[in-house]
Amino acid sequence: MWRAAAAGGTREVLDPADASTLRVVSEGGAEDVDAAVAAARRAFGGGAGAWPTTPVAERAALLRRVAELLQRDREEIALVESRDTGKTLEEGRVDVDDVTNAFRYFADAVSNDSGGRVVDAGSAEVHSVVVHEPVGVCALVTPWNYPLLQASWKIAPALAAGNTFVVKPSEITPLSTVHLVRLLAEAGLPDGVANLVTGAGVPVGQRLAEHPDVDLFSFTGGLASGTTAGAAAVKGAKKIALELGGKNPNVVFADACASAEGFDTAVDQALNAAFIHSGQVCSAGARLIVEASVSERFVAELARRAERIRLGRGTEEGVECGPLVSRQQLEKVEAYVASALAEGARLRCGGSRPEPADVRPAGGYFYAPTVLDGCHREMKVVREETFGPILTVETFASEEEAVALANDTEYGLAGAVWSADTARARRVAARLRHGTVWINDYHPYLPQAEWGGFGKSGIGRELGPTGLDEYRESKHIYENLRPEPVKWFAG
Ligand code: NAD
Repeated sequence: MWRAAAAGGTREVLDPADASTLRVVSEGGAEDVDAAVAAARRAFGGGAGAWPTTPVAERAALLRRVAELLQRDREEIALVESRDTGKTLEEGRVDVDDVTNAFRYFADAVSNDSGGRVVDAGSAEVHSVVVHEPVGVCALVTPWNYPLLQASWKIAPALAAGNTFVVKPSEITPLSTVHLVRLLAEAGLPDGVANLVTGAGVPVGQRLAEHPDVDLFSFTGGLASGTTAGAAAVKGAKKIALELGGKNPNVVFADACASAEGFDTAVDQALNAAFIHSGQVCSAGARLIVEASVSERFVAELARRAERIRLGRGTEEGVECGPLVSRQQLEKVEAYVASALAEGARLRCGGSRPEPADVRPAGGYFYAPTVLDGCHREMKVVREETFGPILTVETFASEEEAVALANDTEYGLAGAVWSADTARARRVAARLRHGTVWINDYHPYLPQAEWGGFGKSGIGRELGPTGLDEYRESKHIYENLRPEPVKWFAG
């Protein structure tokens, strides 16, 4: 059942390509969160036949139906995601396919691992088993850069494990999550299992973090809001999962560039690592760390190609990068570039909004892909997550120095190493303190492999077997088959 916000509030969702209004949605508040959590609690405690006790095979079948519906609506959802976030239509399609795979993966994962395990208690007269149970009511808070994907990485395992939930998408990009929740209902999910509240981080996300009847709080977003919300959730002793930011190194050794083909590939992938979705990617390869002997040639080619990236509305044919998601994000990027230049960085390309004649439509939040050379670890632009189309370049002279630079971040989400020397590539990968490390590649991830970060990139993992376990409690049931007095106390 869909309803307006209790206080009657609404919000305009903007198209970042021209700042026009895309849709008007309800602007929820604490009262709406309370109603949604109450519905999720009722659905969780519904007794026989309720979602937590629905056989695993039926839960998995529902996830597979959702996967089919996502594919049926692929074009429609990709379009919504592209208009809402600014990303290209093709990126929107890739997101729908990835999300489809995630639903299928968690359907398989829960089917293959639902029985718990028998534990050897050291006695034939004891039967000891560890079983899985759902955690309860889950609060799921997601960001604006991959709205459908981040919501699905939480919703699919939460449902697979038998939980009920309340999801709060980013107030900037709620539309694809609304579509997904409609599909869950169409697939046959019982009433009250899936709940959605649109609205701002404060009060909606904050109320979810503090709500006494929420058992698990899973958040994806920035470090500042994530730690604030996480602290509130911990105060109530909830289980928490935080997927936060990243400042990700892309390490290129000269040997990767020895052949013309190797050079072109490493440059091309460095471009993709930094600028896809205008750099608004938690795992963006925003720090290029390149061996000094090839750096000039590498950066010159990178800047030449970055200048040619075609900006425009993500739905238009031939556009390679859309706008930034909001005016606030655009201004933040401008401030980072200004600070970098003030700290001595050299501008190799970009560094400003594009000329009005070079990008259509007018009025959008566009920023030219920017390469900054001569950077060092003390610069703000190197240390902080800019979440925009800014690539900083640092150089190294030895393997030791490359590793030290790549690990010199408070984050630890992802990173890559490029080398033609397999032993070196594996040696460096083993030393990188990041949750995902690519060798001679950048950006791919797999639903069956854990995603998450070291350091301040977060707490917990999504995807893979651990991503399912985040949504399950383990319960040890110890059964004495021949009970006798213990006689510990003499009297
Ligand atoms: P954000 O932290 O501003 O917002 C994320 C979500 O939290 C939104 O729904 C927002 O409304 C809500 N929120 C804000 N303040 C809150 C509060 N006090 N209590 C509860 N909820 C609150 O992040 P964003 O700008 O939407 O997204 C960009 C950030 O997300 C970047 O830092 C990026 O690295 C991160 N991110 C991380 C991953 C990952 O997998 N680690 C993936 C995508 C994005």
